[in-house]
Amino acid sequence: AVPVLAVIGRPNVGKSTLVNRIIGRREAVVEDVPGVTRDRVSYDAVWNGRAFTVVDTGGWDPDARGLAESIAAQAEIAIQVADAVLFVVDATVGITDVDEKVVRILRAAKKPVVLAANKVDDQRTEAEAAGLWNLGLGQPWPVSALHGRGSGDMLDAILEAL
Ligand code: GDP
Ligand code: MG
Repeated sequence: AVPVLAVIGRPNVGKSTLVNRIIGRREAVVEDVPGVTRDRVSYDAVWNGRAFTVVDTGGWDPDARGLAESIAAQAEIAIQVADAVLFVVDATVGITDVDEKVVRILRAAKKPVVLAANKVDDQRTEAEAAGLWNLGLGQPWPVSALHGRGSGDMLDAILEAL
């Protein structure tokens, strides 16, 4: 079967934008308003001739529950369905309590994790991304989902994790 990559992270960090970058199409719904629910979350992707499925978990953000609980549930489900997890953080915001909670879940799950430090649109923001080594999830990959910066190296790391 084709391996599955689940994309998780807080609302508005750029998960859907990054999914569009990975699949090379604009199918995942990008919203300035966090927590948009959609039906379709799985997309076919190919990188360096290898096929995989990308799951954009943004559509699983329930409104009624608190953010921390929602993201924790999102992470648990993603871990169950995925061969590897792409954990997206916003490098311009840094790590929040919710991110810390996800990190604990990911560490306990022992699934391969690729850490994407998104919104690194220019060289200036790369220092912020480097600070994410502290999470203990390995190398943070600085990317700009919006402009494509760094996405090739991140995709190479994804293939190694899958
Ligand atoms: P999601 O809620 O995690 O799926 O986030 P979205 O993909 O919907 O993006 C949320 C907002 O962040 C949108 O306004 C995007 O245009 C913006 N965004 C996403 N990636 C980047 C990036 O690499 N750089 C910048 N500057 N903005 C981004
Ligand atoms: Mg989204």
